[in-house]
Amino acid sequence: MLYHLSEEHEMLRQFVREFAESQLAPNAAEVDDKGVFAQQQYDALVEAGFAAPGIPEQYGGDGADAIASAIIMEEVARVCASSSTVISSNELGTVPLLKYGSEEQRKRYLSEVASGKALFGYALSEADAGSDPAALKCRADEDGDSFVLNGVKAWVTEAGEAKYLVIFAVTDPDDPRHRISALMVHADDPGISYGAPEHKMGIRGSVTREVVFKNTRIPKERVIGRRGHGLSVALGTLDNSRVSIAAQAVGIAQGALDIATDYVQKRKQFGQPLSNFEGIQFMLADMAMRLEAARALTYSAADRSGRQTDDVSYFGAAAKCFASDTAMAVCTDAVQLLGGIGYSKDSAVERMFRDAKVTQIYEGTNQIQRIVIARQLFNRSR
Ligand SMILES: Cc1cc2nc3c(=O)[nH]c(=O)nc-3n(C[C@H](O)[C@H](O)[C@H](O)COP(=O)(O)OP(=O)(O)OC[C@H]3O[C@@H](n4cnc5c(N)ncnc54)[C@H](O)[C@@H]3O)c2cc1C
Repeated sequence: MLYHLSEEHEMLRQFVREFAESQLAPNAAEVDDKGVFAQQQYDALVEAGFAAPGIPEQYGGDGADAIASAIIMEEVARVCASSSTVISSNELGTVPLLKYGSEEQRKRYLSEVASGKALFGYALSEADAGSDPAALKCRADEDGDSFVLNGVKAWVTEAGEAKYLVIFAVTDPDDPRHRISALMVHADDPGISYGAPEHKMGIRGSVTREVVFKNTRIPKERVIGRRGHGLSVALGTLDNSRVSIAAQAVGIAQGALDIATDYVQKRKQFGQPLSNFEGIQFMLADMAMRLEAARALTYSAADRSGRQTDDVSYFGAAAKCFASDTAMAVCTDAVQLLGGIGYSKDSAVERMFRDAKVTQIYEGTNQIQRIVIARQLFNRSR
């Protein structure tokens, strides 16, 4: 089935674009420069109701369908990728609850996130377990009605700001097939501390830190899904949330293309606008074509994510991989088209170029996405 963009989707895009251009864009350079959590941008997203799209209405959310959620992500990322990490972080907490959590857990957490009273974080990675999350070592040892957490999670987006963290830890070390469980941790649980913020290349208005657990005791009912099935929760969540990263990448690329298109029509060399030269036109046309293909694949994956089709893993990986490679290529060419200005912090494309890079790395690197895609091809041909 082909995805369908309704009139409501187009109106939503217009609405989010106006919001993003007036409320987020003016602060985007400053947010990047400061390199701390962009509280002002977060507050604006919450106020506008765009901080956690896609939470069903029965849990206090906007009930946005998966394509509408992608459009919101895209338009926010188009002007400020840092701000858009709030949306992806919330999605990484929302999806496990919706797909695997109990009704009680959904009621307990989702409305708080939907209303902007709480932000989610997602702690899967560790220093020695990045592309290979099955190798994670953080322990959750059973003790009566509780689990006691010890270990260090790495690269946790919005750590220190998030009120709730979905974390993955070893609950059953002796069961090789069911070692890991997904658990909900509250930031005010005892024994949690944070590392210093990472000094990042891009998305500098989102904070990324280690989270350290030292004898952090949490009740057993905080397990999300079945005990020992945490790896399935982690990977099943990423199947859906990668669509969001694809939309983020499409948004960043669109922002860069818009700036470059405008610039080449204004900048004159050899006595005429750059846009008169075919060499420039060909570059822009290639950027636009790749971007439209990435957008189409992203909406196609979003549609599948919304309907929870069997091929969502394949499409989620394909959309994330293609859109992020596209974002990197488009931003590189946008910098080129702006010449020296493009290489300067005075232009937004320099920031977009740095922001685009992370979309090829997080939520599984693009090599890992290609492995996911290839495995599905082999499965289909069996
Ligand atoms: C800004 C930022 C925010 C992040 N936020 C979060 C977060 O909120 N929560 C979270 O849990 N994690 C987060 N991450 C971690 C991110 O998901 C990992 O960095 C990513 O999965 C890669 O893991 P790694 O860095 O350990 O790289 P490695 O796994 O060490 O990989 C290094 C290189 O080797 C390649 N490689 C590895 N294995 C293979 C293979 N089998 N075949 C081919 N190539 C391979 C990789 O693609 C990569 O190019 C974040 C990362 C960044 C940079």
